Amino acid sequence: MINAPKGTKDVLPEEAYKWQYIERAARETAALYGAREIRTPTFEHTELFLRGVGETTDIVNKEMYTFNDKGGRSITLKPEETAGVARSFAENGRAAALPVKMYYITQCFRYERPQAGRLREFHQFGIEFLGSAHYGIDAEVILFAHDFIKKLGIKDVTLKINSIGCKTCRASYGAALKEYLNDNKDALCDLCKDRLEKNPMRVLDCKNPKCKEITAGAPKILDYICDDCKAHLNGVLSLLGGAGVKYVLDPGIVRGLDYYTRTVFEFVSENIGAQGTVLGGGRYDGLISDVGGPEVPGIGFAAGIERLLMVLENTGVKIPDRGGIKVYVAPVGEAERSAAFMLARELRVKGISADTDYMARGIKAQFKYADKLGARFVAVIGAEEAARNAVKIKDMLSGEEKEVSAASAAEYIAARL
Ligand code: ATP
Ligand code: MG
Repeated sequence: MINAPKGTKDVLPEEAYKWQYIERAARETAALYGAREIRTPTFEHTELFLRGVGETTDIVNKEMYTFNDKGGRSITLKPEETAGVARSFAENGRAAALPVKMYYITQCFRYERPQAGRLREFHQFGIEFLGSAHYGIDAEVILFAHDFIKKLGIKDVTLKINSIGCKTCRASYGAALKEYLNDNKDALCDLCKDRLEKNPMRVLDCKNPKCKEITAGAPKILDYICDDCKAHLNGVLSLLGGAGVKYVLDPGIVRGLDYYTRTVFEFVSENIGAQGTVLGGGRYDGLISDVGGPEVPGIGFAAGIERLLMVLENTGVKIPDRGGIKVYVAPVGEAERSAAFMLARELRVKGISADTDYMARGIKAQFKYADKLGARFVAVIGAEEAARNAVKIKDMLSGEEKEVSAASAAEYIAARL
């Protein structure tokens, strides 16, 4: 037997409605904010992620699915979507009226150790709003995330916000942080010893309990950011406060990617174990130019769909299943099979979902199967009904039974749905 590769998962037909529920909430929220969908390729030139995600990140260092194609080009399966959107904007969007508001739903690929909430192929819903450096759009993006999560019915998440400053003020913070971490170097994990040299802020993102202990006492970025960055952050916070959204200022939020500037934020759940971040985002003012585009600022977020599903399941949110069929047409014997086929056909043409028997089941087994399908009506065609060109319709909800002419069956059912 051939199994699915490690770290991948099938979405089976009986659970796909949960995904559609999340995707529907995503698209509906996007419509309210005037965001339009973008779809970019599954693979890009590796160079894009080296420049757009950053060479000191975990993603680029350890997690990318990179290979040479038959033409000898280095290709990488997208580990996230922002770089692809930035690349697309640099390539196609120069003449666009700003801000450009985009959303995406995509699979991503990261070579990670599979565990709860961590897959090698996973899915993200995200947005990228390009063109404005104003703090108002930061607040709008965070409110978008808030509204989306609320629409899903998720209540128990905490919004954590931080500012990681701009290039200028981050440099002085980086120096102070490096000095502090150097003094505590022996207690850091091996990976963080390395991060300390290459990009000390990455240490703040480490999940290792010992590193967390050290970073708890580290200098705080908010004490180092410049007046402009401080004013920007205060602008965001006051709009969020005005909108009645609760948040926690958390200097530990630094995000895993190199491109962030100023506002960064996460929505964290306590209900799904160690990988509790369901959504993360931030401002990335240098990204578009880093990948060869114009100097256009941007901000966005990405939510992990699998993690959202875990929260929904672990907190008992009821997800409506819109699947199933309305009518099951049951031929009693072989002779009524084609009449049943034609009635199912007619119902579908008239916009009513229907199914019939192809397994030569007896009538009792057909009722059982109809029940499994969630059919609201069973339309029985026996020899007598067929002779009269009629059909007996049973409402599975009320138990009511009525014989109607085959020609009026669709109308009869439509009136009762
Ligand atoms: P983490 O700290 O959990 O590794 P990250 O900083 O790498 O997260 P992002 O790159 O910001 O995550 O991705 C956005 C969201 O995508 C995360 O908040 C999470 O919900 C989801 N996500 C990231 N990596 C995975 C994965 N390997 N499997 C499932 N979901 C993931
Ligand atoms: Mg990660």
